[in-house]
Amino acid sequence: VISSFDVAALAAIVGSGNVEHRAALAARDPGVDQENLGADVRVRPADTAEVAAVLRYCNERGIPVVPHGGRTGLSGGARSHRGGIVLSVERLDAIESLDPLSRTAVVGAGVTLARLAEAAGAHALSVGTDLGARDSATLGGMVSTNAGGIGAFRHGTVRERVLGLEAVLADGSIVSELGRVLKRNEGYGVERLLIGAEGTLGVITRVSLALVAADGPGATALVAVDSLVQAVSVADRLRRSTNATAIELMSGNHAAAVCRSLGYTDLAPMAAHPWLLLLEVGADDATAAESALVGFLEPLLEDATVADAAIAQNASQRDAMWRVREDWAVDRERPGGLWFDVSVPLSELSHYVDVVQTRVSAHDPTLGVYIIGHLGDGNLHVTINAPTPITERYATIAPLVTEGLAECGGSWSAEHGIGIEKKSTLERLAGATKQRLMRALKDVYDPNGILNPGKVVPG
Ligand SMILES: Cc1cc2nc3c(=O)[nH]c(=O)nc-3n(C[C@H](O)[C@H](O)[C@H](O)COP(=O)(O)OP(=O)(O)OC[C@H]3O[C@@H](n4cnc5c(N)ncnc54)[C@H](O)[C@@H]3O)c2cc1C
Repeated sequence: VISSFDVAALAAIVGSGNVEHRAALAARDPGVDQENLGADVRVRPADTAEVAAVLRYCNERGIPVVPHGGRTGLSGGARSHRGGIVLSVERLDAIESLDPLSRTAVVGAGVTLARLAEAAGAHALSVGTDLGARDSATLGGMVSTNAGGIGAFRHGTVRERVLGLEAVLADGSIVSELGRVLKRNEGYGVERLLIGAEGTLGVITRVSLALVAADGPGATALVAVDSLVQAVSVADRLRRSTNATAIELMSGNHAAAVCRSLGYTDLAPMAAHPWLLLLEVGADDATAAESALVGFLEPLLEDATVADAAIAQNASQRDAMWRVREDWAVDRERPGGLWFDVSVPLSELSHYVDVVQTRVSAHDPTLGVYIIGHLGDGNLHVTINAPTPITERYATIAPLVTEGLAECGGSWSAEHGIGIEKKSTLERLAGATKQRLMRALKDVYDPNGILNPGKVVPG
């Protein structure tokens, strides 16, 4: 437990109003993971200098520090424990510059994705990244997890959007590489190692981002297909012939669970098909977007590549279609399942899913396999569950999903980071040289091991 002496020292840095104790933390929403707010205190520095002073103090005193953004991370990377502090960047929330001509933004790490998207939208620009947790997820957290999301198939993951970073290392020293240009080669990209480091190498305080042109108004369709081969073909053809802005995938059993749970009787018949796609295209105006989508789908319905399709006629129908993709009814129906986040080259996707389904049912026929994902870039979220919780079976079930991914050019950890949940998989699957380099880098950036201890870095 942190001493009152330490709490007073931290309060002297950030102001006592910006130090929250356990009682206050217990009353606060922990976010996605119930263990996020397990620390003794949460401190909220106002700027980079205060972040540096907090880290310098904690480094000298050997106090563990867990950086927090919006607490929407899905790999347990923000969990914190007694004896340590949470360092929240929520007060670093300034959109410092938004330059429409160079299409760049420089923001504090605590700015949420939704806020930056709105500010960029006022200049007909977009962040180029979108995800369901947009109202809470912060740019600092998204850089730290190298988030992917809905637009990654067009604009890359957050790594590709980052032009520069400012961050504070464990000893309080500051690395500031906040350029706003694409081409910049000034020695090792030491700051870029923090992208995807999940708070284990430093605390990101400011981010410089490349923006993209905003899409015009969109049209949305829910489409049923009878095989994954057809789903991949639809995705490919959509990208070739329209300005596709979303290509999302759901297995029929996932969609059926959502329709049951939310009472979507009109969409339920589509969920009887094995796979559903949520497709969006953008155009100069809504009518043009809808006719592009109709023109795309008609021949596919005629030649039976697509079994069924519905185009949203208004905002509430569009919202319902997105709920079918994003709702977590499966976890409410059968809590205690296991969640995997993998990437597969599109040419291998159908074969991979067949093999996983066969392996899982051979292992235990009572297990259910539910799949959603960002089909445009081959990123699948696979839930495996049973009528009773199976969380303690992770070590035996994980290989059923991860085996063969490296060989086909895929990844066993796509967009949600390693955190604590995938650390054992990293120790199992990452090569010895990579694990040695990761430990060596951790020692350089954080020699006393105070930053997010126990996460990501192999033991
Ligand atoms: C409904 C929902 C939908 C989602 N959809 C997607 C999706 O489509 N694609 C996707 O990639 N993710 C998705 N996510 C996961 C999540 O939104 C992302 O991982 C996001 O990037 C986390 O941002 P955050 O600010 O909430 O970070 P947090 O959860 O607060 O932290 C995540 C990790 O980053 C570290 N961290 C946070 N801020 C900093 C900082 N300033 N400096 C250093 N380290 C820091 C933390 O220590 C932790 O390890 C989704 C989550 C939810 C709940």
